[in-house]
Amino acid sequence: MNNHEVFMVRGWWERVQDYEKQYNSLKMEYETYQKFSEQHIQELNEKNIRLEKSIDSLSNIIEVSKYINTFFSSDSLISMINDMIVGILGVTYSTIFLIENGELIVKASNIENMNIKLTSNEYVHINKGEEFLINSRRVLKQTGEHKTDIHSIMGSPIILRDKFIGYIVVEHNIYKFMTMELKIFLRSIANQIAIAIENSMLYKQLEKMNQRDSLLGIYNRKYFFEYLEKNECKKLTEKFAIVMIDIDDFKKINDTYGHQFGDKILINTAKVVKSGIAQNDVLARYGGEEFILYISNYIDEENVYDKVEAIRTILQGDKVEINGEYKSVTASFGISFFPLNGTDLNELISKADDLLYKAKKSGKNKVLSGHVFES
Ligand code: GH3
Ligand code: MG
Ligand code: MG
Repeated sequence: MNNHEVFMVRGWWERVQDYEKQYNSLKMEYETYQKFSEQHIQELNEKNIRLEKSIDSLSNIIEVSKYINTFFSSDSLISMINDMIVGILGVTYSTIFLIENGELIVKASNIENMNIKLTSNEYVHINKGEEFLINSRRVLKQTGEHKTDIHSIMGSPIILRDKFIGYIVVEHNIYKFMTMELKIFLRSIANQIAIAIENSMLYKQLEKMNQRDSLLGIYNRKYFFEYLEKNECKKLTEKFAIVMIDIDDFKKINDTYGHQFGDKILINTAKVVKSGIAQNDVLARYGGEEFILYISNYIDEENVYDKVEAIRTILQGDKVEINGEYKSVTASFGISFFPLNGTDLNELISKADDLLYKAKKSGKNKVLSGHVFES
């Protein structure tokens, strides 16, 4: 090997070593990068799973809210929410309590026979109106007909405008079934329940207001017809009577004593009629100074006549004060009977109206009945 050749080999060898160095450093870099990216991917995956979970629970919350708000007017709202908690959270048992007259009352539960037992630990949290989450390998309690061993319990207060109004308790037989995520979810359901309860109360108030005459407090004509339509099936099997009532010479009262005193007379007349009827009977304002009365399932026609006649007598003797003077009014009445005088409501109203008209024509302050003994 000449010098030139030695030089060439050395140069070649050095290059090989350089390549090896480069290769190793590249390999290391690659491995580091690979490790890093694997870790990163794993982190991203975990993040994704977490995100998916929160999107899941978010969409669940939205579903819950939609569901609750669709049914907020229903009387069985709380039981429906309770069923929904069992369905969405997948808990074994769920119970909703609401405070009534200062006491926590079970409003809905899927625990068989509503046989609800609370551990002393649960009592402490519930009484304080605070959230709790208990997981235990030991059996915490046994719930339901089949005495299911409970290892996981969680509770959330229902709070409306800073006021503790109820509580939800959920239970599961699997240890650590309840997690922080479920707790947050339960809290959001509790908030939804509070809003739903408030909406439902407002709705009921509004519904009640819409059923009544604002001056007299008795039902309005719209409600009267709705009520009778709802009771259509009952109507066809049970006897009932329709009474049309009209105050006599009411225009004169208004003209003589003023509209305000007229109102006072109207209020008093409604009060007198109301006190003469049974709780199941329905009294409504039909129009200006006209009333309509539904008498349900009466004993016999004479009995109805006597009842209405008694109202007429009381009214004529009942005095209302105006500027130190006492005035009374009279009214005329027409009674029709189902099925005696007609088979549908319109027919019966028109018959009662005819009789009322006859009563007016023949001197007012009288009761005319569609039953043969009278007409
Ligand atoms: P009749 O004996 O034939 O029934 O005569 P009437 O005067 O009672 O009957 P009419 O239908 O001529 O008059 C009814 C009056 O009732 C006319 C109306 O101004 C009055 N009215 C209707 N609604 C109200 C109300 O809410 N308050 C008062 N004060 N008056 C009312
Ligand atoms: Mg009239
Ligand atoms: Mg009148």
